[in-house]
Amino acid sequence: MSANNAYNANNIRLHNTLTGNKEKLETLEPGKCGIYCCGPTVYDYTHLGNARAAVVPDLLVRFLRHQGYEVKYVRNVTDIDDKIIARSAEQGVEPAELAVRFTDAYHQDMSSLNTLDPDVEPRVSDTIDEIIDLVATLMDKGLAYDVDGDVYFRVTKFKGYGKLSKRSVDEMLEAAGSRIDVDERKETPLDFALWKAAKPGEPSWTSPWGEGRPGWHIECSAMSAKHLGDNFDIHGGGRDLIFPHHENEIAQSQGAHGEDTYARTWVHNGFINFAGEKMSKSLGNFFTTRELTAIFPPETLRYYLMTVHYRSGLNFDLEVTCPACHAVMDKEQQESAVCGSCGHETTAEILKKQVRFPSLEDADDRLAYIYSTLAAAGRFLETAKASASEVIVEGPVAEMLPAFVAHMANDLNSSGALGVLSKPLSEINTLLASGKGVNKDLRYATIAYFVTSMKEVAEILGCFGKDASEWLVQRRDMKAGRVGLDVTRVDELLVQRISARQEKDWTAADRIRDELAELGVTVQDDPTGSVWAFL
Ligand SMILES: [Zn+2]
Ligand SMILES: [Zn+2]
Repeated sequence: MSANNAYNANNIRLHNTLTGNKEKLETLEPGKCGIYCCGPTVYDYTHLGNARAAVVPDLLVRFLRHQGYEVKYVRNVTDIDDKIIARSAEQGVEPAELAVRFTDAYHQDMSSLNTLDPDVEPRVSDTIDEIIDLVATLMDKGLAYDVDGDVYFRVTKFKGYGKLSKRSVDEMLEAAGSRIDVDERKETPLDFALWKAAKPGEPSWTSPWGEGRPGWHIECSAMSAKHLGDNFDIHGGGRDLIFPHHENEIAQSQGAHGEDTYARTWVHNGFINFAGEKMSKSLGNFFTTRELTAIFPPETLRYYLMTVHYRSGLNFDLEVTCPACHAVMDKEQQESAVCGSCGHETTAEILKKQVRFPSLEDADDRLAYIYSTLAAAGRFLETAKASASEVIVEGPVAEMLPAFVAHMANDLNSSGALGVLSKPLSEINTLLASGKGVNKDLRYATIAYFVTSMKEVAEILGCFGKDASEWLVQRRDMKAGRVGLDVTRVDELLVQRISARQEKDWTAADRIRDELAELGVTVQDDPTGSVWAFL
């Protein structure tokens, strides 16, 4: 199975928020798939939630392409928005300048996580004409009204409002009626802004309703129609967007283009649950993508995001340990900066460096295990002789790729797919460790089959595709930074050990090895020299 094969239309199933069911993917045009995904509002650096909202559609796009689909992937950038205007006023820069700065930062972060660029990345500021046309259509149809230069969508006029989020208009009206902050100029509290009249100093464009700027929801209706047509296959985004954003998109687009238009399948990813309650405010409980990729290889983050099914919540845990006794410190102890176990007094500044991320550590270890296996398999294939005769590979290694693909086809079950790798990995490690009792040709063919299959897995996941040895060194050095290992000391000891061995001073060589072990480090000797690794 490869990207060149005919697309695999029969097997892919996705959970559709609109129907509440897992459904067979049937695209409008066989073999083609149009995907629209709500992108970032660019006013700050990205955090893990933004990363998940980009990695999940990336996984979908990669998988569909692997299955032979011709995918057109559109992801927007919201570069005009209340938050951008507020933040730029705080920082004393133009909103457009702030938006460009954080669009660039978004691109850097997402590319570090190995997400593919969308095929089209429209910005609101490039889509103003289409937005104005769409609002005008809604006005013509009586689905929108203008009050003093603000244009609102008339929710009660659109039958089917609430069908995505499973809410009833009557219940929503009742709930809204008891609120005191309702804008009296709107016909009903549920009506939402399509166009906002310009306030002094804000960016604005000329429209039939006066100077102003688009409301938030209208951009996605206008951009998806512009780049994918009134009908398209899949709409993605975070679960937090279901209401009101996606509900409003449906109202706008179907209001303008007809009830049976717009996205057929709605795919939503779950939240990330930050273990904020375990962490004192003074240490901060909000980690940006770049703060995390400064201490973990970016691929570790990507891998971590795929260890849980995309619809499930992902618990991002962290802990703070005492710098003296390494006991976990609770929130109160962090605030007082005094360890409850040993009484050690410290500072918030030092404690900040004591934050540990157990789930990222686990993902990092697992990824290192996979890359170590790939590195060893690569070395084996370079040095061993190729199979002299054709042998048929069977068992876990042969079954790995089809089983992996089957899990991915089942609503993009990446955690199930990753689980499929366990048995083949351990089989390969056994084969690499010793050829005892194994047919030589079969051993070679099995390891070669594994490496080839893992290349396809890497293509689908966007993981495991780097040069294994280089990745392992990067990971080792980042881990050294996290655990505070003195790398200079390790290098000194390695040099001393080499000269001790050259002088055949075995007592000294053993003593140095023990000292390295005390630092948590082991030395591996191979024909090219000595390298160190964590024990
Ligand atoms: Zn959107
Ligand atoms: Zn302590």
